Amino acid sequence: MKEKLCRYCGKKIPNTNHGSSQHCNDDCTYQAKKKRSRAVYHEKGNKLSILTKNEKILSYFYPLVSASNDITFKMLDSMGFQWGIYEEEVFYLDRTWKKIGDFYYYLNNDKTISLRKK
Ligand SMILES: [Zn+2]
Repeated sequence: MKEKLCRYCGKKIPNTNHGSSQHCNDDCTYQAKKKRSRAVYHEKGNKLSILTKNEKILSYFYPLVSASNDITFKMLDSMGFQWGIYEEEVFYLDRTWKKIGDFYYYLNNDKTISLRKK
């Protein structure tokens, strides 16, 4: 039988445990679970703070757009806008918009940004 090692502490898993076990004892199972949920929580908290920052950047530029000025990829980028982070994608006017808070944005081929508010 192949020797299995505990995923948490790295010790050999006793043969008395059933085959599917990934940890040497209940404590390691518990510790590993705790560590995993903390990592997920951290990731979520991080995404939330990025969304908040992105929304602030969009609300900062929104007055320009409503006054018919172009905003560009570069302008948002220089403020630290995180392009991969948004709440959801919404299909509207033949395009897929990214939604953040009350704002919907779309990156045009000429690197200008279309921005709308709910
Ligand atoms: Zn262990």
